[in-house]
Amino acid sequence: MSDQNDGKQGISGWVDPKRCISNAKCTTAAPGIYVLDEETQVAELVDFDGATLQQLFAGARACPTQAIIIEQYGRRMYPQILTPMFGEENS
Ligand code: SF4
Repeated sequence: MSDQNDGKQGISGWVDPKRCISNAKCTTAAPGIYVLDEETQVAELVDFDGATLQQLFAGARACPTQAIIIEQYGRRMYPQILTPMFGEENS
């Protein structure tokens, strides 16, 4: 861990595999940061440490199903409103 983390203090990001429809928008928006798993075809955030905040958000914004969640100190930054998936209980 270094202090030069591009303003990512407290930031974490992850892909919700249940929301990912494998359309590779995030991997196009931030290549090398988000990668589709070869077997499952579900996107993964593979290079969090190497990513800038802009790259993290570029991938997240490109995702049509809001599968990419970005949090800061455990509070969700993106998406601000997480719409339920079809058939999912609103919690
Ligand atoms: S843009 Fe969203 S749905 Fe598409 S591959 Fe990336 S995480 Fe999955």
